[in-house]
Amino acid sequence: MISKDEILEIFDKYNKDEITIATLGSHTALHILKGAKLEGFSTVCITMKGRDVPYKRFKVADKFIYVDKFSDIKNEEIQEKLRKLNAIVVPHGSFIAYCGLDNVENNFLVPMFGNRKILRWESERGLEGKLLREAGLRVPKKYESPEDIDTTVIVKFPGARGGRGYFIASSTEEFYKKAEDLKKRGILTDEDIANAHIEEYVVGTNFCIHYFYSPLKDEVELMGMDKRYESNIDGLVRIPAKDQLEMNINPSYVITGNIPVVIRESLLPQVFEMGDKLVAKAKELVPPGMIGPFCLQSLCNENLELVVFEMSARIDGGTNSFMNGSAYSFLYNGEPLSMGQRIAREIKMALQLDMVDKIIS
Ligand code: ATP
Repeated sequence: MISKDEILEIFDKYNKDEITIATLGSHTALHILKGAKLEGFSTVCITMKGRDVPYKRFKVADKFIYVDKFSDIKNEEIQEKLRKLNAIVVPHGSFIAYCGLDNVENNFLVPMFGNRKILRWESERGLEGKLLREAGLRVPKKYESPEDIDTTVIVKFPGARGGRGYFIASSTEEFYKKAEDLKKRGILTDEDIANAHIEEYVVGTNFCIHYFYSPLKDEVELMGMDKRYESNIDGLVRIPAKDQLEMNINPSYVITGNIPVVIRESLLPQVFEMGDKLVAKAKELVPPGMIGPFCLQSLCNENLELVVFEMSARIDGGTNSFMNGSAYSFLYNGEPLSMGQRIAREIKMALQLDMVDKIIS
């Protein structure tokens, strides 16, 4: 694991008046880069031919670093270019996926915004569950074996497969029947079925809650909320039930977009309590804990309890639903604040207060 001291040593050699905010051109790069520009930073977008279009057309990047393929971002040559630009990298989901978590932890010697140690805690289901549970958040009940199924469950499979092959079952028999069917169609393997993650299906409304923890202010801010727009499930539910039965289509949960949403106001105390609890527990389990953006993906059941089925320990894609600010981020200063700009503002404040060691790793 790259130590904080190694990173601070690199940062010490930087020209502090010429800091560049850098990220990979994908995921949430538009508002990360736009937000950085609005806060007066210069910006660099790491990209490849054909993928640079939005960053050029929206003019959010001052410079481009081209790679042949996104996974080249881990290469020493690219790291050197970033260090020469006095870059602080903002890691997002695609950055981590292409760089590789092992490389982020052990090889990527460029200062990054946030706590790189916590990223493993969102990517491994066991660690994620431990953090959420020990923080005292409600999570869906987990089933160790298909034989234990006693209610409606959602069955998930490991790896970034975008919810392909996920299915719903209400009994052990239904589990095996559907698993067998998906195997016949070549969607699942025996290994997938043996490693299936089975959890209670929470019937409720989706709220993906985007928080920002400021180590400088020691405060958790509520920046926005979205709900997911997923294919094919969101198309499937437009088909009348009797036609669905005849069509024999398997649902998938591939994220294709995000829709901004606000929550019933009386639920906000619960929302803040959840963010505060997670930040407190993360400090204890993965010091220095959560830094900057994180997201709790939840479902609100009919008892008005928010049940968390997934966590992002970095900027989440749903923040794209409020590039020009959300109903909540507006409330802080009466201005349209995106998550990208909030990150840049924290970096700017840390530079002014000489507290950059609190926000990078
Ligand atoms: P990924 O991490 O693979 O990108 P994701 O973060 O969106 O996916 P998953 O846990 O894979 O989250 O769930 C995909 C979708 O399945 C969710 O957006 C939600 O619609 C639904 N879902 C997940 N867990 C539950 C649950 N316990 N009850 C009901 N629906 C769920």
